[in-house]
Amino acid sequence: MNFQAPKGTFDWLPPRSELVLAVREALSAPARRAGYGYIETPTFEDTALFARGVGESTDIVTKEMYTFTDKGGRSITLRPEGTAPVVRAVLQHGLHNGPLPVKLWYSGNNFRYERAQKGRYRHFSQVGIEALGAEDPALDAEVITLGLDGYASLGLTGVELLLNSLGCKDCRPAYRTALQSFLRGLDLDEQTRARVEINPLRVLDDKRPEVRAQLEAAPLVTDHLCEACKAYHEEVRALLRAAGVTFTDDPRLVRGLDYYTRTTFEYVHGGLGAQSAVGGGGRYDGLSEMIGGPPLPSVGWAIGVDRTVLALEAEGLAGGDERAVRVQVYGVPLGEEARREMFTLLRELRAAGVTADMAFGGRGVKGAMKSADRSGASYAIILGERDLAAGTAQIKDLASGEQTAVPLAEIVTTLKEKLTT
Ligand code: ATP
Ligand code: MG
Repeated sequence: MNFQAPKGTFDWLPPRSELVLAVREALSAPARRAGYGYIETPTFEDTALFARGVGESTDIVTKEMYTFTDKGGRSITLRPEGTAPVVRAVLQHGLHNGPLPVKLWYSGNNFRYERAQKGRYRHFSQVGIEALGAEDPALDAEVITLGLDGYASLGLTGVELLLNSLGCKDCRPAYRTALQSFLRGLDLDEQTRARVEINPLRVLDDKRPEVRAQLEAAPLVTDHLCEACKAYHEEVRALLRAAGVTFTDDPRLVRGLDYYTRTTFEYVHGGLGAQSAVGGGGRYDGLSEMIGGPPLPSVGWAIGVDRTVLALEAEGLAGGDERAVRVQVYGVPLGEEARREMFTLLRELRAAGVTADMAFGGRGVKGAMKSADRSGASYAIILGERDLAAGTAQIKDLASGEQTAVPLAEIVTTLKEKLTT
């Protein structure tokens, strides 16, 4: 039997997997500096949470969810996105009854049954932030800039910010009607015509060129915003400009999820081909109520870790050699007694903050020294029977080849000294 990772999934292996860790760290650090606390929710939830919270007419709910019935007869869905679970957790634990906004960040895997291709997988990873319970343009601007700060700290220069406002429950209905009557006059397939009736804004998100061409003359949401939404959006834009952020107004940006209101944005990268969105987010003032909570105006983003890694590679920032797993010291034990001693020495070295590995599997000196070279270590500790009898080990400088005998009791301090000078 030859097992393979399931279709649409893949394994991150060293040294490339180091990039995944670096991306998670870099994307979450700005949020942690801004007072966002870490939240971890289950990998699966009640199916109804996503059906209601993400929206019945979205791609996610209509065709992408991994849904199954558990042994207790409950309908369970593997998390396709992180926002609805975070809002569920906030409501369940009453976090919104404390100081607002509740600021949270998360990192985790998502599952969507998608047509797998480069940058689009059935199992992928996101870092996300959510600020819940405040309606304040400065919060929208903070959220947007925290994402950009993450990309910048990775050295990425090709991330572009697309910005839009989707209006609110007061002005969106009129826009929806205007858009709907425009869309009804177009030449669309049956499925898209159905979408026009259920969620016309989503049609603007259609990626097919023949549909896009027909959308040229579609009414724009920005021409239909109420005064309050217009002022709010203007303030977000002014704050971003004051922060030195460049952005592109994109009145057709609607995003895939139903719960967005007002500020909507996407981070895109030119080096990724068709899957250009590296992250996205926006304000979701109605989501809490959609899942049975009180009004809780909120804003957040989710950034795709996998696509961010692709962006790093596209910009030549992925590093090569320096990404490899390396240690400072490599042990070469010759014989059983030496192995026992080396095992203990390595634990002492690591406890002293030195990274160390050793040859396993009873390898001969030649093979073990080859591994020492490959490990990137600066020093090898060679321990043979004669050394053991003398209570010493050989420390070999792998760059110069110079070798000295050092008493076993002084190995750790000697190496520590050598490594710091
Ligand atoms: P897209 O338009 O590319 O389908 P989306 O609107 O469905 O994206 P969101 O749900 O907002 O995306 O997720 C935020 C980010 O998560 C995306 O910008 C992307 O980087 C990443 N992402 C979404 N779906 C996938 C996937 N199937 N595989 C890999 N990354 C993904
Ligand atoms: Mg999608």
